Amino acid sequence: MSNQQHSLPLLLKKLRLPTIHDQWHNKEVEAEKKGWSYSHYLSDLISLELCHREQRRIQRHITEARLPPGKTLDTFDFSKTKSINTPQITTLAEDPTWVKQACNLMIFGPSGVGKTHLAAAIAYRLIEHSIRAFFASTVALVQTLQRAKSEYKLPEALAKLDRFAVIILDDMSYVKKNEAETSVLFELIAHRYETRSLIITSNQSFKEWDQIFPDTTMTVAAVDRLVHHATIINVEEESYRRSFHNATIKGGEKS
Ligand code: ADP
Ligand code: MG
Repeated sequence: MSNQQHSLPLLLKKLRLPTIHDQWHNKEVEAEKKGWSYSHYLSDLISLELCHREQRRIQRHITEARLPPGKTLDTFDFSKTKSINTPQITTLAEDPTWVKQACNLMIFGPSGVGKTHLAAAIAYRLIEHSIRAFFASTVALVQTLQRAKSEYKLPEALAKLDRFAVIILDDMSYVKKNEAETSVLFELIAHRYETRSLIITSNQSFKEWDQIFPDTTMTVAAVDRLVHHATIINVEEESYRRSFHNATIKGGEKS
């Protein structure tokens, strides 16, 4: 082995090129066998490095998003949900233009109809399209922001969330009306207005949001900002949880 070949692993480590570090020799053998030019060999190695780097980035962003596991478009049964427009969901998941324009997505419907599943599934695909996302139970995120506010660190906490182009506020209507708490929810909505997206799931329609915010003025101001640039989806089916449960019971009765 030449001196250059000896020092190559070290140089590649220094340059943080782990895939080329692992593959340069195998590829060299392949290149010799197939008679590749130097530039062909080099571009093959660099493409491999970039491809693995992209895969690692997606994996990192999926982990940081804290999405519920397994709730993807592949596991969502569109035939069970007649009120869902499949092409609309596909477009939201595959074309991140709406996120780049800081629009919102609001998913309404009773419990168990797949709102959380859909929100997570869209976020999974958006991450694969290089959009950073963060999934949170609204109640938990409100508590975190409330703590930050009590330590006079709310602006920093909101700024920290800016790195996510999309935040999923799951189960918005579970937030209890409490002046201190829900004013931070309003501050989050106002902070992200026209700069970053929110995906909101709720089993209460806007009419009932007076129960979330401390007063009607704040409710109207929050709803105005959310719906100004938003896609609104109403899922109306029977609960998937309940129909799954009923099917299991019926299946059990037969056997
Ligand atoms: P919601 O948020 O509306 O209360 P979830 O999204 O939590 O409902 O759905 C309840 C359960 O049913 C979850 O396990 C979810 O994965 C599953 N589910 C709901 N709708 C569907 C569907 N159309 N296809 C596959 N699984 C579904
Ligand atoms: Mg839910």
